[in-house]
Amino acid sequence: MSDLKHNWTKEEILEIYNKPLMELLYDAATIHRKHHDPNQVQVSTLLSIKTGGCPEDCGYCPQAARYHTDIEGNDLMTVQHVKAQALRAKASGSSRVCMGAAWRNVKDGEEFDRVLEMVRTINKLEMEVCCTLGMLTENQAKRLAEAGLYAYNHNLDTSEDYYKDVISTRAFEDRLETIDNVRKTNVTVCSGGIIGMGESVEDRAGMLVALATLDPQPESVPINALVAVEGTPMEDMEPVSIWEMIRMVATTRIVMPMTQVRLSAGRTEMSREGQAMCFFAGANSIFAGDKLLTTPNPDVNEDMEMFKQLGLQPQAPFVKKAQPATVEAADSALSPQGEKPKWSRPGHKIERNEEAKLKARAK
Ligand code: SF4
Repeated sequence: MSDLKHNWTKEEILEIYNKPLMELLYDAATIHRKHHDPNQVQVSTLLSIKTGGCPEDCGYCPQAARYHTDIEGNDLMTVQHVKAQALRAKASGSSRVCMGAAWRNVKDGEEFDRVLEMVRTINKLEMEVCCTLGMLTENQAKRLAEAGLYAYNHNLDTSEDYYKDVISTRAFEDRLETIDNVRKTNVTVCSGGIIGMGESVEDRAGMLVALATLDPQPESVPINALVAVEGTPMEDMEPVSIWEMIRMVATTRIVMPMTQVRLSAGRTEMSREGQAMCFFAGANSIFAGDKLLTTPNPDVNEDMEMFKQLGLQPQAPFVKKAQPATVEAADSALSPQGEKPKWSRPGHKIERNEEAKLKARAK
């Protein structure tokens, strides 16, 4: 029987999540070995190509303009700067570069053209290129595909039910809409979430239902542990325990057997033993570099030492899917359409987001 199914229910996922740990680990590791090389872990590098000043109100994010945090904002990087960073990442074992811009949505114009050039440049370095730029129209997704984009990241963050307690400036359906636009191209989908934002275990299962019932399932699912940053509405959240991370990774692996499961933010709080259990449970990617967009991350050398200790190898690029062809800007048949993605403005208020905004104003 195939392990792949698209009709998961919340009850089935909760049953998996709550299994005795040894059984959960055994099941997850068995599925993992069937579909992936258990000794290969992809090293990805996350580059913040435009930091801070975002108009959205995601309750976990230090880049939202409305909160008062210590991050240093920067304008969109140059293509040369990005290329230099990508070469450095490649030399230290990364096979994928993910570029993040703190935008609500992509706007056609000089900045998007520059991002397209960054995508072309990194693709030519024989690395997988991923972008996370906010909401996208279908035309923008097609232009990114033409530039040689390998993956587009757009996280669901949490369950549909809990989404209203985290973000008020857009709705859960808006996320699905952008994912749908990406699916109209050959770009793969990267979408996951964050645990430790005050959600229930049912919400974690709800998020996995939303991801696992997509057909096709996302090729990549990052699982983040909240990094509670001072000044954000979630600054006082208790850190999640390693056991919750292991359960979440194992459950993700079981319900999405073919997917690349990415152990993402929050690794600085995890011991090597904890991370090793996550790899055993099916995580097969980490993010390298001392910063994850704006939050701390283990040093690359430390990660390479851990790989050595565990006998892990960094995964080569394009193992799961061939390198996309690049169309040069001058040869493109697609033109900017100046459209904005349509999104809903739910208009509800989230108490802790409002409080953080007022606190920032007072500062
Ligand atoms: S998570 Fe992204 S969309 Fe939300 S505030 Fe941060 S940068 Fe903006």
